[in-house]
Amino acid sequence: MSALKARINYIAEFSDKKLETEFFNQYIGKAIRYIRPIMLCFGILNTLFIIPDYFFIENPTAFIQAAVGRVILFILVLALFFGIKRTDNYRRFAVWITLGETAVIILFFYVLNCYETPDFLIQAFGVMVILIVLCMVPNRWIYSMGMSVFTSTGFLILSKLLIKNIEARQFLAGTVYIWIVIVLSAILSLRSNYIERVWYLNNKELTRLSMTDPLSGAFNRIKINEEMKKWTEYSKRYNADFSIAIIDFDDFKGINDNYGHLVGDKIIVEFVSLINKKIRKCDIFARWGGEEFILLLPNTNIKQAVELTERIRKSIENHDFCIPNNITCSIGVAQMTADDDETTILRKVDNVLYAAKKAGKNTVVWL
Ligand code: GH3
Ligand code: MG
Ligand code: MG
Repeated sequence: MSALKARINYIAEFSDKKLETEFFNQYIGKAIRYIRPIMLCFGILNTLFIIPDYFFIENPTAFIQAAVGRVILFILVLALFFGIKRTDNYRRFAVWITLGETAVIILFFYVLNCYETPDFLIQAFGVMVILIVLCMVPNRWIYSMGMSVFTSTGFLILSKLLIKNIEARQFLAGTVYIWIVIVLSAILSLRSNYIERVWYLNNKELTRLSMTDPLSGAFNRIKINEEMKKWTEYSKRYNADFSIAIIDFDDFKGINDNYGHLVGDKIIVEFVSLINKKIRKCDIFARWGGEEFILLLPNTNIKQAVELTERIRKSIENHDFCIPNNITCSIGVAQMTADDDETTILRKVDNVLYAAKKAGKNTVVWL
């Protein structure tokens, strides 16, 4: 837990910028689904406020000004509604949302200015609601806080300038309560931003653990089954090359018997790091079971797969695993054909691996 804490800074963001962007993208990606309809409702509701304006603003010019302001805001909301949908960079989303909030607040001030005799306390309640909403809208905590300070300071200064005869006692009470709301909502939103990030890290770790083999750090069977399904479908759909290799240590039982299981384990771990250096980023390498490993090679034909696995075989043979015995492995390789499915292709690779063992081990056999 302390390791997690250390990675989240005092403004409730990950210190690691890449991690923060990754978090923010998925967080806003989920939030966007409910933010857009809420935004639209707000735009419509704000436009409907023209009705009370009509009754409460006596000066017709001031009423028209307020109505124009509300219509402009509706157009802005519509622009945001469509703009946010197209945003693929969700950091930009935070800027958009903050600009949208600024527009709403400026409109609030503008309409306030259109009323001949606004009541300070009633408007102060309105500001408190805005402050709470600002903390509820998903955004960078620091931006939400900036908006809260801007709104409350702007409101207090404008009230002093626009509203005549505010009782000093009321002004003081309004100021104190507005600042109490800012501080409380800041604490709440800081906490919720922090918790969201801790959950995100925990989920990320759980996902990683669920697909990783604890000894070697390679992917496990859960992950490989998923990837196998994905790539067989992809290869069928796009008629793309897809090859699979199974790698099995030669005489590993003997290694365990001679040097003990711990040495055997160490060899497995070293072997995985060796192979990870040899494969491409898009290749999927996983522990198939025991000392057998599987390699999924998307967009790779049998010739390329054999070249790669031959390089792997040689590098294992030449690597110094710090024991007197030479460590070698046998590899079976096959390319998926149009008639194959996940089961038949695996059966084929298993058969060629068996052939490699029969052929004297430390060899690559393909179909
Ligand atoms: P072959 O050349 O025919 O493959 O012979 P082999 O001895 O390697 O036989 P097999 O492939 O059946 O290997 C199974 C052995 O692998 C038995 C087991 O002791 C060892 N093994 C499996 N998983 C682990 C593991 O996690 N750690 C260690 N140290 N050994 C393992
Ligand atoms: Mg073996
Ligand atoms: Mg085996």
